[in-house]
This record gives sequence, C-alpha cells and structure tokens, in this order.
Amino acid sequence: MTGLQRLPGEHVEFVHGSQLRASDRMLNLCVTLAAISVFLVDFRFAGHLPAWMLVLWTTLMALAHAPSMRMRWANIASDYATVTRGVLLRHGAWSFLQGAVWLMAMVMFSREAHASEIVTLWTIACCLMAAVAIAYQSTPLSAVGFIVTIGGGAIWMMLKHADPLLAAVVTTYAMLLLGASLRQAHLFGIQLTTNKLLAEKREVVSLLLREHDVDASDSLWQTDIARRLTGVSPSFARMLGTNAEDLEGRSILQVLAGPSWEGGKFDPALHVLAEKLKDRVPFSDLVLPVFVSGQQRWWEISASPRIDEKGAFLGFRGVGSDITVQKESSERISQMARYDMLTNLPNRLHLTGELSSVIEQVAQWNRRCAFLMIDLDRFKSVNDTLGHLVGDQLLAQVAERLRKVCSANEICGRLGGDEFAVVIRDVPEPLYIDQLATAIIEAVSQPYLVDNHTLFIGASVGSSSAPQDGSDAETLIRSADLAMYRAKEAGRGKHLRYAPSMHADAEERRLLEVALRDALARDELHLLFQPIVAAHTTEVSGFEALVRWTHPALGPISPAKFIPVAEDARLIAPIGNWVLRTACREASQWPEDVSISVNVSVEQLYDPEFLDTVVSALAHGGLAANRLELEVTESIFLREGTGVAQLLEKLIKLGVRLSLDDFGTGYSSLGYLSRTRFNTIKIDRSFVTGAARNQRESIAIINAVVAMAQSLDMETTAEGVETEAEYDLIRALGCSKIQGYYFGRPMPAADAHALFGDNSSQVA
Ligand code: C2E
Ligand code: MG
Ligand code: MG
Repeated sequence: MTGLQRLPGEHVEFVHGSQLRASDRMLNLCVTLAAISVFLVDFRFAGHLPAWMLVLWTTLMALAHAPSMRMRWANIASDYATVTRGVLLRHGAWSFLQGAVWLMAMVMFSREAHASEIVTLWTIACCLMAAVAIAYQSTPLSAVGFIVTIGGGAIWMMLKHADPLLAAVVTTYAMLLLGASLRQAHLFGIQLTTNKLLAEKREVVSLLLREHDVDASDSLWQTDIARRLTGVSPSFARMLGTNAEDLEGRSILQVLAGPSWEGGKFDPALHVLAEKLKDRVPFSDLVLPVFVSGQQRWWEISASPRIDEKGAFLGFRGVGSDITVQKESSERISQMARYDMLTNLPNRLHLTGELSSVIEQVAQWNRRCAFLMIDLDRFKSVNDTLGHLVGDQLLAQVAERLRKVCSANEICGRLGGDEFAVVIRDVPEPLYIDQLATAIIEAVSQPYLVDNHTLFIGASVGSSSAPQDGSDAETLIRSADLAMYRAKEAGRGKHLRYAPSMHADAEERRLLEVALRDALARDELHLLFQPIVAAHTTEVSGFEALVRWTHPALGPISPAKFIPVAEDARLIAPIGNWVLRTACREASQWPEDVSISVNVSVEQLYDPEFLDTVVSALAHGGLAANRLELEVTESIFLREGTGVAQLLEKLIKLGVRLSLDDFGTGYSSLGYLSRTRFNTIKIDRSFVTGAARNQRESIAIINAVVAMAQSLDMETTAEGVETEAEYDLIRALGCSKIQGYYFGRPMPAADAHALFGDNSSQVA
C-alpha cells in the first residue's frame, strides 16, 4: 500500500489508482485546512516577524501544495487509469514536503515566540496531523511523510521551548496517529481486494451468462494458465460428487477424464477439449462423458479464454451442465426412429437407408445385392382371434428366428405389421438368394408356443436383386413386394423371384380388387349348383353352391381367381354371407332330403359373427340345419388355438353338417380327421383322375380314406368324375357320393330346381 514495494503487474493501476482516488477526495478539505492554518500563523506572527519571512514561508507553502493539486487534476482527467507506483511515491514526497514547510515554520518562528504563539503552532500541528491521518488513510506513505515531519517539528519545538513531558505527549500522539494511519491503510487494502474479487465474480457470472446464453443455475468453472481449476461454482462441484475446495488446483482434464486418466484411454471428446485448451480458443457445447461415482454421465461444456487488459492469457472460464437425461432421451428417440420397438429390428426407414447404401456399394464394386420381402402367412387370423398381445409375442419370436437365420452378410428388419425384410449385402451366386429364402420359410414355419397356444404360421418370400431388377431402393422394394404377392397367390410358403411380367399381373389383380368391391352392390354375383349324387343309386343327394362373377367389361371371372383376391382384400365375409343366404333360400325350395353344400373360406371362420350368420341364413331360408353342409379345407388345422375348433363344435351342435373339401391336396394328415367330427370327406379330383390312370398311390389313398371314413362313420365324396370309367372305378373303390361333370355341371338355380320337376331326383 505504501508504494515502496512493487505490486504484481496486473494490479498496479487498479490498487494505486484506488488509493489516490480515495485520498484525493479529501484533498480539498486538507488544502482548505492548510490555508486557514497558514492564515492563522501569518496573523499571529505578523507583529514581531519580518514580513518578507512570512511572505516567503507562505509562498513556499503554496508551492508545496500546488503539485498535489495538479496531480489530482491529472488523475481525474485520466480517471486514475494511468496511476503508477511513481505517482504514488510522488504523492508521498509532496506530502513530506508540505510537512517539512510546517517543520520549517516551527523551527524558525518559535525562536522569538511567546508561549501563546507556541501553543498556536502546536495546536495547528496537532489538528493537521489528525486531519492528514484521516484524509490519507488510503495513502499511508503520504500520511507517514506528513506526520513524521510536522510531528518532528512539534516535538523539537516542545523540547526547545516547553516541557520535555509535553514533547513526550506529542511523540505519543504522533505515534498513535501513525499507527492508526497504517492500520487504516491495511484495512483499506483488504476492502479493496474484497471489492475487486466481488466485482470479478460478478463479471465472471455476467460474462458467462452473456457469452454462453445459460441460466444462473448452470455450473461455472475457471482455470488458470496451467489448466488447473481455480474456482468452480458449488453446483459444478456437486455435479462431480465432491466439493469446490477439493477441486481447487486440480487439472480440469484429469478431473473430467476420471478413471480413464490412469489408463490413458480417453474419449475423443476429451482430446478435442485438450486441443481447445492448448490452442486457447473458445469452444461451445462440447459433449463429453464424465464418470461420477462410478457412473457415466454426459456433460456439455462451453468456455472462452480469459484475457487481461493487456491481452495476456489468464486461463479459461466456462460453464458445464449435465445433459445425461436429455442425451439418453434423444438417443432413445433416435433409436425409436430407426428401430422397431417390438422386435428391436431395424425399421422400414433404417432398412431402406441401408439398402440404398448397399446398392451404392455394389455399383462401385461391380457386385450384386438382393432384397427379400417376407410376409407371414395366416398371421392376420392369429392376431384377429387371439388378440394383439399374442400377435406381438409371435412377431417377436419370428424376429428372433430371422436373426438366427441371417449372417453378417445380411441385415434383417421389420417393415411393419407382419412384413419383414432382409437386405443381402453381397450375393455370391444366384442360388444363394433361394437358399436363404428357403431357410427363412423353414425357420418361420416351425410351430410356435405363445401363451400356451401352439401356433402355426408360414411365410411367403419375394426377392429382387440389384442391379438387374432396379438401381434404387424404392424400385427394389416394390419389385420384391410384387414377387412376394405372387408367392402368396401361388399357394403361400413359397419364394418367388421378381420377374418384369409381375407388374402386369399385379395391375390386373389391383383392378380385380377394385371391381370386386362393387360386385355385390351391382348384383354381378350369382350362384350355380352342381349336383352330388349317391354312388350306387345316382340319385341327387344334394348340390354344391358355386359362386360366379360376371363383370360387365371383363366377363366371367373364375372363383379360383377372385376368391383369393376377396380373401386378401377382406371381402370374403360379405361375399360368403351372401352365398350362404342365397344358397339356403334356394335349397329350401328343394325336396327335404336334398342338401346344400356351401364353401366356406377359413377367413370366414375367424369372424366372431359367423355362427350368427349361419343361424340367420337358415332362419331366413326356412331350412333345417341338417340340410346345410359347410365345406372347409384342411388349412383350418394349421391354426390351432384360434377358436376355429370351438366354432366348428358349435356348428355341429346346431345340427349343421361339415365336410372336408379337397382332401389330399393340402397338409393331409389323417390325424386331423379324428379331431373334428366331419360328416363327409371330399376326395380331390386329382386322385380320381390319378386312379383312373391306374396310379397306385391315388388308388391307395382313396382306399385308405374310404376305409377310415367308414370306420369313423363318415361319407366320402369323389370330386371331378367326368367319365363313366371314372364313375365305375370310384364306385368300385367304395366312395359313397360322387360329384362331377359326368353327373352334371354347375347349373343355374332354375335348372337345378327343374331336376325335381318330375318328382324324380335321378340324373344321368
Ligand atoms: P371346390 O369347392 O373344390 O369346387 C369344386 C370345383 O370343381 C368347382 O370349380 C367345380 O366347377 C369344379 N368341378 C366339379 N366337377 C368337375 C369335373 O368333373 N371336372 C372339373 N374339371 N372340374 C369340376 P369352381 O366352381 O371353379 O370353383 C373353384 C373353387 O372356388 C371351389 O373349389 C371352391 O374352393 C371355390 N369356391 C367356389 N365358390 C365358392 C364360394 O361360394 N365360397 C368360397 N369360399 N369358395 C368358393
Ligand atoms: Mg367345395
Ligand atoms: Mg373341392
């Protein structure tokens, strides 16, 4: 504070400037007091001291005060910004000089003085000493300089002209003032430092808030030139699970690196931070992993270099915030955007992106890639009958199987619903696609156990490959999709490669579907009835109702073509219901021993209202339940646990008869037959023609079916008997009923009715 010692460079102007600013505030008062004192001395000694002496002394006094005043003006003009140690020392020197002029007065004027004049000088000296001790609290050198000289003069005067005891009093007084003055200076220094720190802190906070656009709850940190933490906010320390004092002086990199500091394996973000600190450049929103109490957290930090007034680098100052929660949720969102939540497989978006980049790569390396579109067969019915929870579990199991089948060369994903897909990055040879598709179909077709239900589904696969089937992801996906639809049409559980002709077929199918939606409303459907005769008597025992569709532009369309379209487009229920009602109404016109067979798609059996539909069709037609025979195919057995068996039981209880259509074409297992009480087994036409051609397997199958049917008390109907030879053979093999062109083609209702016109139900 005295200015005798040199201060560290960065504080000089601030400390000395503040010192002089404080003492200059009292300067006017001191100068006024000095002027009054000088006037008093001149007035007292005017009588017996020569005038020149007083004038000279007064002039000296004025000259000693003038530099202090001038210094003050200069300092005010520069707002104390240019105050150096020299200025402070000069301030002390002028103060010392002013004291010396007073000392001079006491030495020279007291020689001839009376006691009252000595008292005047002594009083003035005491007042001035006290005034300076108060006024120059911040500039101890000036206070000491003045008090020592003027005090010295007073002591000398007392010793010379008065009591030495009084001299001792003055000495003590002067010492006291000196002590008080130095103490005040010390306190002033402390206050200055405190104010400075406070101001700095305020500045740091406001600077950071301004620079980094953060709110006050963020954690603040600061480093020195050697990247050591020198002051962190309590919340910063809290984020690290420690307190601010423990962090003081530790390397920021070491603190943030945590345990990885020892191993030397840092996160790349920490390297970036180290580089920024080394280069002394500002950085913002740097995200890095930080280990806190053994747990990985994510922090976002921003900082700027601290520069002093002269442009020297002092360290860094920044903010940090824990963004673990935000980061985790944003990662979750991006995971959700790219992965299917149910199966954890890449979703459509992700897979399409992968396919695009794979296509680009194969184009570069002159190789081939492929896309497999997989659609689950019969999944919809599982979902519809057992509910979405079971459906979801089933999908998860399918995903697991697909994952196992696929190698590192493949990316498998879920496109949505029951559609999955596989991208083959590199197709070594064309057969590879077929092998993988077959492996997928086999894996997916194994039975599933979900919630105590044994479920059977299948898969149809369509594939396309680049570059021949398309050079972009969209085209490849569309082509594979088409191929997959064709595979479904071709009987499901198959793999088909894309062929350009599929586009035309798909278009036809689409047109068919559009037209079919209006077919019922436009009355374009009608029924034909094909007689079924008793094998031995050839008497008509019933008719099978066969639906026909005549489109105004496309003409007659075979049910073999439009029924699968109706099943896929979920149009089979309204069409099936119409068939059932119309057939029952028609059959009610026939003799009572003639039954009506109606084909029922398996999709219809999943409709919970199907039983009501049957009851209402019978009621409307006024037909006895035992005259209605529902024809179902073996595919119903592939969906165990879907409630179909229970529905069939209810139908049987109602009195409705059941027949198993097209036996031998599907998954023929004689075991099925013991589970549901069928009234009739219809042997498919292929066995009839096979037997007629003397094929041993066909004959053996017919024999086996007939034997089993007899033992289970069922009837057998042979389908598609076209010739007399076939009729003879079938009759010989023991079938109880026959249906085929030989006995009658499907015919309009009127023709069927006409058969009973002569009260005879015998045909042919
Ligand atoms: P399906 O139930 O096996 O019907 C027998 C099919 O064999 C009928 O073909 C019939 O015309 C044909 N057919 C009968 N006798 C002979 C013969 O001697 N020789 C030859 N070559 N064919 C014969 P259609 O009418 O074309 O029906 C085909 C399939 O369409 C039916 O096979 C049935 O599965 C389905 N279908 C027909 N009508 C309906 C219906 O109303 N609902 C449902 N869900 N499916 C139906
Ligand atoms: Mg049939
Ligand atoms: Mg059939």
